[in-house]
Amino acid sequence: MWSPAPENGTLFIDGKWRPAVSRATFETRNPATSELLAQISDGGLDDAREAIAAASAAAAAWAARTAYSRAAVLAEAHRLMLARADDLALLMTSEQGKPLRAARNEVGYAGDFLQWFAEEAKRVYGTTIPSARGDQRFFTMQQPVGVVAAITPWNYPVSMITRKVGPALAAGCTVVLKPAEQTPLCAVATFQLLQDAGLPPGVCNLITASRPEAVGNALLTSETVRKLTFTGSTEVGKQLAARAAATVKRVSLELGGHAPFIVFGDADAAHAAKGASLVKFLNTGQACISPNRILVQRDLYPAFLEVLAQRVANLRAGNGAEPGVTIGPLIDDQAIAKMERHVNDAVQKGARLLSGGRRLSGGGHDRGTFFAPTLLADVTPDMLIYREETFGPVAAVTPFDDEAEAMEMANDTAYGLASYVYTRDLSRAIRVCEALRFAIVGINDINPTSAAAPFGGMKESGIGREGGRDGISEYLETKLVGVST
Ligand code: NAP
Repeated sequence: MWSPAPENGTLFIDGKWRPAVSRATFETRNPATSELLAQISDGGLDDAREAIAAASAAAAAWAARTAYSRAAVLAEAHRLMLARADDLALLMTSEQGKPLRAARNEVGYAGDFLQWFAEEAKRVYGTTIPSARGDQRFFTMQQPVGVVAAITPWNYPVSMITRKVGPALAAGCTVVLKPAEQTPLCAVATFQLLQDAGLPPGVCNLITASRPEAVGNALLTSETVRKLTFTGSTEVGKQLAARAAATVKRVSLELGGHAPFIVFGDADAAHAAKGASLVKFLNTGQACISPNRILVQRDLYPAFLEVLAQRVANLRAGNGAEPGVTIGPLIDDQAIAKMERHVNDAVQKGARLLSGGRRLSGGGHDRGTFFAPTLLADVTPDMLIYREETFGPVAAVTPFDDEAEAMEMANDTAYGLASYVYTRDLSRAIRVCEALRFAIVGINDINPTSAAAPFGGMKESGIGREGGRDGISEYLETKLVGVST
């Protein structure tokens, strides 16, 4: 298989690929086969400090370029991403596990952010503001925040990078990025593409690492780094945000979710169950917008469960590079252990296990981390799966009686990222949409995301938005200028 790992090492600092100062390496493996894919440079504190220095040195010249010049680099990176889409998708399937078709979709989505922010770079506007004084004029200008520390997860290993790097570069910021330790090759391939697009040395730096604390420490304690943008778990996000406060960094957090998927009695059961199965098992359930609680009005409950069970039975788990596979492996053994914990807890407390519920073995599954697509019915609020983010292929279904109860159940969580509603009643759709304490609502829609739309969370799901018009403002400071005439 094509591997992008450069011979010199996988750290990219000041425009050069190099090993870690310590010369340490770690392995990246295929979660479907356990095959070793590459040795990765294991960056640490010293490497991160060098990367920050490189980003700082490059900042003034990059910010001074015209927006048109920065946009041209991003547009070229977008072109290269499409040209390399097949190789990138295959790499992603090998390293992260998602089926090839899903990997191709992600590469397209990742490219969309490069294109969108190439365009937005040219639309960063200031304002003029009337003053109460006749001899005074106000205007504002937008300027780049400065050096940005970006930390990304493994579940969308290319698009989570471009969703941060695209707007940061468009705004005129420079970046030090630490990708997840499970998917460093996807980050390397993305950075090669930025390099080939003509990004000047130091503007975007990559620190691959297996010990995130050391790199995180350098990024968070640095006074040079003016912004932290993090996508990952709520637990880690809280810790990092607390530490970023010591130097009053700007913070954007894209954290965990616990999406309710609400199906009202007036909905089409088959259509809703189809939607639930598609979004629940997307990326093997390893998505922050994955439904964690499927709430179904009692009169529709049996019909909905019947269709969902059929759909779950039709899923085919395996190596995502093989044709016909619809669901890939989980990322690692810890994820399998979490599925087992959630399923066993639910069954002990009275949930009905309608399918799956165990690690898959035999038939090519032995070497990977596969968990059977699972359907649990009669899930109740005292079960772990009703509270904790599952992040795997377990669909948990709960009945409800009326709209008020559904809203209370849906909002009964510390999370506030995505939510879904199935109904044919327009008034109800609007009422429910307004009552949901979630930043994203899909109404009869399972894909309410796009590079052109703001993505983010309320409550403990995060701070700030990525994508859309909001996405670039996260990397800009507003400067007010008052002039006496
Ligand atoms: P994670 O364990 O929080 O890790 C996320 C990133 O943070 C990784 O690069 C990790 O490095 C790094 N990290 C962990 N501890 C650190 C520290 N002390 N200092 C610096 N960096 C540190 O999350 P994950 O398991 O990769 O991703 C899954 C989570 O991401 C889920 O909760 C999911 O909902 C969330 N997510 C949210 C969104 C969104 O847009 N809201 C999108 C995708 C995923 P290592 O890999 O080396 O540990």
